[in-house]
Amino acid sequence: MIDFSLSEEQLEFQKLARDFCQKEIIPNAAHYDETCEYPRPIVEKAFETGLINNHIPEEYGGLGLSVLDGSIISEELAYGCTGISTAMEANMLAECPVLVAGNDEQKKSFLGRMTEAPLLAAYAVTEPDAGSDVQGLRTTAKKVGDEYIINGNKMWITNASVANWYFVVAYTDPGAGFKGMSAFLVEADSEGIQVGKKEMNMGQRCSDTRGITFENVKVPAKNLLGGEGQGFKIAMAAFDLSRPMVAAGAVGLARRAMEESIQYASQRKTFGVPIASHQAISFMIADMAKDIEAARMLVWQASWQIDQGIRNTKLAAMAKCFAADTAMRVATDAVQIHGGNGYSKEYPVEKLMRDAKIFQIYEGTSQIQRLIIAKEIFERKKK
Ligand SMILES: Cc1cc2nc3c(=O)[nH]c(=O)nc-3n(C[C@H](O)[C@H](O)[C@H](O)COP(=O)(O)OP(=O)(O)OC[C@H]3O[C@@H](n4cnc5c(N)ncnc54)[C@H](O)[C@@H]3O)c2cc1C
Repeated sequence: MIDFSLSEEQLEFQKLARDFCQKEIIPNAAHYDETCEYPRPIVEKAFETGLINNHIPEEYGGLGLSVLDGSIISEELAYGCTGISTAMEANMLAECPVLVAGNDEQKKSFLGRMTEAPLLAAYAVTEPDAGSDVQGLRTTAKKVGDEYIINGNKMWITNASVANWYFVVAYTDPGAGFKGMSAFLVEADSEGIQVGKKEMNMGQRCSDTRGITFENVKVPAKNLLGGEGQGFKIAMAAFDLSRPMVAAGAVGLARRAMEESIQYASQRKTFGVPIASHQAISFMIADMAKDIEAARMLVWQASWQIDQGIRNTKLAAMAKCFAADTAMRVATDAVQIHGGNGYSKEYPVEKLMRDAKIFQIYEGTSQIQRLIIAKEIFERKKK
């Protein structure tokens, strides 16, 4: 049996996130886009409201929400501003590897603290020569006694300067390919860590993206996640949880772009009629509505699968790819529907188009998602 209705609790969270978006995010979105400031007051309010870190299990002080719950919330927050919602939700990406592979002590320490104060964390995998190709990592972690010594440079790390701890992947056995990578939980105030300058990005400008340098950073051996050689597997497994929620953010952005377009097309007149009466415009909006529904269904299905303990790698990649491409297309069409006004900062669609682009790049590009889907189709079929 298939049931698409949300539970009472999910409807409550959806409303909470929607109200938060209207009250706290939308009125401040343009300010944070303009100034590129990190939206700390909003992140702190979201923490108090229970809108971040809520997937941490109850035994570690969290609310124990599911991935589907997280996706429902993520769509609502992203509707307001994906710069602010990324700043709010980047914690989730860093916490997923701990959820996937952390032992009890690591969960108590690294997840537990996130429920006690509005702390932040970052997922630090990408490097100057290793984005899509994670095996290109150069960062190393050498075991010396009961510590690992980390050296290397990370790049494009969201939350880098505001995080309390980092999830870091490094080679413990550099000759062994992906099997030589290990994952660590690293305190951000460790000696030898230097955070770079803030990247001035096209969109999602208030999100804090920076490089991080590790120079002889000592990490206790107890902060190794899983075992040696498990780093790549853990980093990828985390995406099965996080990608549906990131895809949900793309759906939220697309929905906002569509609603702005409907409103504008109903009011703006050319040739004596509202532009919505021109089939070229109404068909663009019909395509937006159709693709947004389809993207949301993929997000919900990918979320539901992982919540049931079913391997969702293919659906998570499909959801991320389809939702990201939809967000970019819808935001671009929204600018088109607004004509010259769409190109101006006076209207929100200009920002939506800039913000949409990153969904096709971070958490694995749209090309990499297609690569994963194809691999799942062909290689899994062979086995
Ligand atoms: C704003 C922002 C925030 C980010 N946040 C984080 C973060 O918090 N943590 C983190 O670890 N990383 C983060 N990233 C990094 C992000 O995940 C990478 O930028 C992304 O994975 C792409 O890697 P790259 O930039 O090195 O591009 P490359 O890997 O060099 O790719 C360049 C182009 O080639 C394509 N390509 C590469 N390989 C293939 C292939 N095999 N087949 C077909 N096409 C291919 C790509 O799709 C892309 O179009 C962030 C990036 C940005 C811009």
